[in-house]
Amino acid sequence: MSDPIRLAVVGMGKIAHDQHLPAIRDNAEFRLVATVSRHGEATDGLPFFASIDELAASGLAVDAVALCTPPQVRRSIAMTAIAKGWHVFLEKPPGATLAEVVTLCDAADAAGISLFASWHSRYAAGVEPARAWLAERTITRATITWREDVRVWHPGQHWIWEPGGFGVFDPGINALSIATRILPHAFFVEQAELDVPSNCAAPIAARVDFRDTQGTAIAMDLDFRQEGPQSWDIVVETDAGTLTLAKGGGELSLPGGETPAGTALHGEYPGLYARFAEIVRAGTSDVDVAPIRLVADAFLRGRHIPVDPFVE
Ligand code: NAP
Repeated sequence: MSDPIRLAVVGMGKIAHDQHLPAIRDNAEFRLVATVSRHGEATDGLPFFASIDELAASGLAVDAVALCTPPQVRRSIAMTAIAKGWHVFLEKPPGATLAEVVTLCDAADAAGISLFASWHSRYAAGVEPARAWLAERTITRATITWREDVRVWHPGQHWIWEPGGFGVFDPGINALSIATRILPHAFFVEQAELDVPSNCAAPIAARVDFRDTQGTAIAMDLDFRQEGPQSWDIVVETDAGTLTLAKGGGELSLPGGETPAGTALHGEYPGLYARFAEIVRAGTSDVDVAPIRLVADAFLRGRHIPVDPFVE
C-alpha cells in the first residue's frame, strides 16, 4: 500500500468531532497530522493552527485537508489549500453558491489536485439498493419529508441563519443529495415557498414542487420547527408499489419485504473517506453540483414569505 495520506482537518465543530475524527482514525489510508481551529485546541496531541494560512506557513508536510467549517468561508480556505497543492475534501454543501463551487473545480483541475464534494447522505445504507430498485420501475410520484427540530440538531449554529447558511436547506440538501442519486430522471423546481423568520436571512421551512423530465411530480416539505417525532423520509410511488427510504437514507422498505437496515450517520463517513482515498489515489475529482443547483433554484424560483422571528 502507498504511504498514508497526511491529512489536516479544518473547523473543529460538531461534524469534525462526531464523524470526521473517528472515520479518519479507522482508515489506514489516512494519517491525521494537524487540525485548524480558531479555538486553538489540540487533537490527539497533534500540532494545531488558528487558520489555514498559519498551517500553510508552518512547513508541515500535508497532502490533503478536510474542510468542516460553515459553507460561507469554505471557498477561500479551499483556494489556499489548492494553492498549496493539497487535495480537498469539502463538507456539504460544497460552497455558499453554485458559481464558487464551479470555480473551485476549475482551480483544482488546473492545480492537478483532487476535489471531493462530499454528500454524506448518499452513503447511507439504503441509498444504493433504492437506486437499483427504482432504475427498473416507472415512478408515478415522490414525496420528500425532512422535518427536524433545529434547537436539538443545530444548537448555537448562528451561521445557519446567515446569508449563505441555507437555513432549513442545510439538512434539506441532504434529502436532495439522495433524491438526485436514487431517482432515475433529472428534475427541476417548478415552484417553491420559503418561510423566512423576520430576524433571519435563511428559511426555517420550505415547500418545493419539483417535476422530472418524464412529467412526474416530486414534492418536498422541509421544516426546522418539528417537535416530537422527526422525519427524514423519501417515499416513491411506482408501478410496482411504494418504496420508502426512512431515517435519512438509512432504512429502506420495499413492497416485497425488507432490505438492509441502516446504520444511519455513523456509517456514512467511513464511506466518504474510502471514496476520498480512492479519488486521491486515482488523481481524479468527484464533484456533483446537482443538489446545490436545486437549492439555488428553490431560492431563485421561490416566494419568500416572512414568518415569526426565530428565538433559540
Ligand atoms: P459547527 O458545529 O458550527 O462547526 C463549524 C466549525 O467551523 C466551528 O466550530 C468553527 O471551528 C469553524 N468555523 C465557524 N465559523 C468559522 C469562520 N467564520 N471561519 C472559519 N472557521 C469557522 O457546524 P457543523 O455542524 O460541524 O457543520 C459544519 C459543516 O458540516 C456544515 O456545512 C454542515 O452542513 C456540515 N454537516 C454537519 C452535520 C451535523 O450533523 N452537524 C452533518 C453533516 C454535515 P473552530 O472554532 O474550530 O475554528
